[in-house]
Formats: sequence, C-alpha cells, structure tokens
Amino acid sequence: MSTTTTGTVYLVGAGPGDPDLLTVKARRLLDEADVVLHDSLVGDGVVESIPDGTRVENVGKRADGERTPQAEINDRLVQEARAGRDVVRLKGGDPTIFARGGEEAEHLASHGVAFDVVPGITSAIAAPGVAGIPATHRDHASTLAVVTGHEDPTKADSALDWGALSSLVDAGGTLVILMGVGRLPDNVAALREHGVAPETPVAMVERATLPDERAVTGTLDTIVDRADEASVEPPAVTVVGQVVGVRETVAHCLGGSDALADVSVSAGPEGVVEVNRQ
Ligand code: SAH
Repeated sequence: MSTTTTGTVYLVGAGPGDPDLLTVKARRLLDEADVVLHDSLVGDGVVESIPDGTRVENVGKRADGERTPQAEINDRLVQEARAGRDVVRLKGGDPTIFARGGEEAEHLASHGVAFDVVPGITSAIAAPGVAGIPATHRDHASTLAVVTGHEDPTKADSALDWGALSSLVDAGGTLVILMGVGRLPDNVAALREHGVAPETPVAMVERATLPDERAVTGTLDTIVDRADEASVEPPAVTVVGQVVGVRETVAHCLGGSDALADVSVSAGPEGVVEVNRQ
C-alpha cells in the first residue's frame, strides 16, 4: 500500500442547498481546503461561499449533458491527495445517500489515501421537513424507506421490490423517493398495482431550502397530473404516506415570523394556542 500520500480527502455533505444548512465542520473544511471538487447539485450559495483563491471545480454528473465518469473522479481524488493537497469532495445532501460516497471511499482506501466522511443534511429528510412533513410521526409513521425513483419499475432485475415498498406504505410507513421526477408516473403505477390506496397522500418538494422552493401535494391518484400542471422539475423529493397530511395542519405557520405577519395568535382555553389566518 502506498504511504506517499500527504493530502487528505474529505467526503463532505453540503446539505440540501441553503448555505446556512452546512455543518460547522463542512464550513471549516471548505475554508481550509486546497481544492474543492463538487457536484452540480451543490447549492450555488454554498459554492459562492468558498474563499477566493481556492481551486473549485464542478465535476458534476448530469443526466442531460456532460458527465464526468466516476472512474475519472476517483482518479482525480487520488492524484490531488498524492500531490499533497487537502481535497473537499463536496456533494449535495449527505455524501453517502445516492451520492457514490461509498464508492469513492472504497477507491481511496484501496489506494491508501487518508479520508474522512463529513455527514450532511440529506434532502431525503430535509425536503419533507421544511415543507411541514415529518418523515416519522408517532401517530402516523414509524418506518421510513428512502429509495431511488430512477429505475424502471417494470424491469425484472430492478433492485427495488415495489411489493415490499407498497406493504410498507400500507402499514403506515413513509416512502421517500429521490431522483423520482422523470419516472413519477411509473413509480406511482407500481405502487397502485401493488394495491396502495389511491387516496394515499403524496407530496413533491422541489428545490427544498432554496429561495424558489415549492411543494405540490395530492394523492397517489392525482399527483401525476398535479406535478405535470405545476411543471415540477428535478431536484425534487417525493413523499408518500400519511405524514404528508401533517403539512395541512401546520402549513399556515410555516416560514417563520414573515409567514405570521397576517396571522393573529391568541391563547385559547387550557393553554391551547389558536392561530387564525386573516
Ligand atoms: N446526496 C443527496 C442525494 C443525491 S440524489 C442527498 O443526501 O440529499 C439527487 C436527488 O436528491 C435529487 O434527484 C432529488 O430527489 C434530491 N434532492 C437533492 N437536493 C434537493 C433539494 N434541494 N430539494 C429537493 N430534492 C433534492
């Protein structure tokens, strides 16, 4: 194994987009790195916050355009570290959730390169959360599954068991689908075919934590049309399950004090706070 390495590679999560949602550790590493290699998904605000003088490269892989092969990124990480540089490999959300952080860690380890994993706030939890949808809730959901919606559900060798996922939703669990905008109709159809009720609540949260964040809600029966009407585009997270209903009961107070500007709050009987939108 090589012992010539002097730099360290940090596999860092940038969170869902809002630079305020970087961890303190991610902030410090970004401020101290020699090189930052980031994905396209990393929020512009985060990239802009990297100090001038740091070498910053977008090595993003996009379905629609130029794609940096993963093998090339892996090799770059090793080269940079061997040249004595501290590298931040920055990924949207968490580096180990559908982000190939595991593959990069394996590659670095097999080349004797020192690395650290710095967790980030994953969109799988954050996108529903900021839209008022708790991923779990004592009254609604005790299970959470996070899946990729990118696969063709009709493919025999699909890694996803839609029967099992449907049972999970039927039993009151929460299903969170990442990368699921393009195949939304297929994924909804797969759940319906396995017997999930058409009135099951569904939400899509687009560009969560960014200034133009949007949420579209409906049911398994209506969400495809609603997403179509609203022209939902990636990145968006789809949430299926009863927890989506919580949004309705809390949405009028979401968004901090700005959202409450036109709301009157008064203490009701037995300490219950009543909120009335005007
Ligand atoms: N590592 C990332 C996920 C990468 S897969 C994480 O932990 O969040 C890419 C998918 O993440 C997108 O297709 C979308 O489903 C989701 N995603 C990432 N950022 C998002 C955001 N700000 N709003 C909504 N979805 C987001």
